[in-house]
Amino acid sequence: MTLDANWAARWLIAAGDVFETERGALSELDRQIGDGDHGENLSRGFGAVRGQLRVGTLPGTPAEVLREAALTLISTVGGASGPLYGTALLRASEVIADKDALDAADVAALLRAGAAGIAQRGSAEPGDKTMLDSWLPAADAAAVAAERGEDAPAVLAAAVRAADAGAVATDDLIALRGRAAYLGERSRGHRDPGAASSALLIAAAADSL
Ligand code: ADP
Ligand code: MG
Ligand code: MG
Repeated sequence: MTLDANWAARWLIAAGDVFETERGALSELDRQIGDGDHGENLSRGFGAVRGQLRVGTLPGTPAEVLREAALTLISTVGGASGPLYGTALLRASEVIADKDALDAADVAALLRAGAAGIAQRGSAEPGDKTMLDSWLPAADAAAVAAERGEDAPAVLAAAVRAADAGAVATDDLIALRGRAAYLGERSRGHRDPGAASSALLIAAAADSL
């Protein structure tokens, strides 16, 4: 149950697995309001991350694992989601630097930093119908749970529920960032692919405990 480097590695390997499994579904979401490649992008990017972790180059802290993954995502994913996820994981790694294991407050801080990274990199605001609309509620729920004194698994569980709800809530939003923004009003009624994949990524973190 320790959130150490091995947990971080299990998280990213699980993400590689889930994005491979959900590749078709995520690309289908992206076909509705984008260019249909979101599943491919994430499957390729997190597949590369998973491959690196499997060849036994696992460094010592969770921060180092997340940082390596971030650089891989930035260099292997061509679409918007690569730099966005890369920035999220890079910022997350910075706020947990040098820690061997993460506590509840660290988990909340990691999610907060990831959300802030996406907002900054994408110039996105809450409600723009992007991956931020999954990350931000997750970070908020994690902060509340951590302040209530809940342990790291409970904080992650709260984040997962909020990320899921946030992704579902993008259905009713009009896209203001990314390719979907070109559709304007016609983007309403569809789930944002990045919000959906972010909920899967956060769920993978909880499932890897
Ligand atoms: P691309 O749009 O380049 O094909 P992807 O399909 O992999 O890239 O990713 C699309 C997702 O990226 C969107 O569903 C959205 O969640 C996210 N996204 C796109 N642009 C932005 C942005 N400016 N800020 C935040 N998230 C964004
Ligand atoms: Mg796309
Ligand atoms: Mg694309």
